[in-house]
Amino acid sequence: MFCPNCGRQIPDGSKFCPYCGKKIEIVEEPKSFKKESLKKEKRKVRLSIILIPVVVVLIVISIVFYFEFFPQVNPAKSSEYETKGLTILSDIVANGNLADKNKLSEASRCFEKAIKLNPDSITASRNLIFTYLLSNNFSDVEKETEKMLQKNPNDAFSLKIKELLSEEMP
Ligand SMILES: [Zn+2]
Repeated sequence: MFCPNCGRQIPDGSKFCPYCGKKIEIVEEPKSFKKESLKKEKRKVRLSIILIPVVVVLIVISIVFYFEFFPQVNPAKSSEYETKGLTILSDIVANGNLADKNKLSEASRCFEKAIKLNPDSITASRNLIFTYLLSNNFSDVEKETEKMLQKNPNDAFSLKIKELLSEEMP
């Protein structure tokens, strides 16, 4: 403990300061005050029990959003997804299941992921458009073709699709 008068360190429980001679009065903390501060401590602990998971969840959500809206470009991973999509497509063609909606949407999901991971991949965009065509999903064919032409205005594949779509329109 320290002497409240001269500030020097003195043995715990001293009644007088051996340096300045001042009488040391130990101020007892009132019991009610102790209880109050104990309650406050407990409330702090309870609050942190609630707050910590909330903060963790918020951090996880922000990380997920970050990768959703600012995906990292990863051409290797992109072509992995593209290959997976192509495998599904060739299975569909080989088995003559061209109307297999589940397989088609699985394939389009692969190409969508491939484009997210590498927005410059022309083949992924073409395969996605092709898959939408097989799915008779013409609104997405149109949307994806427009996107493709914004990036590659001279892409013959997309220009052909656009031409076919405009012929289809009455
Ligand atoms: Zn003293």
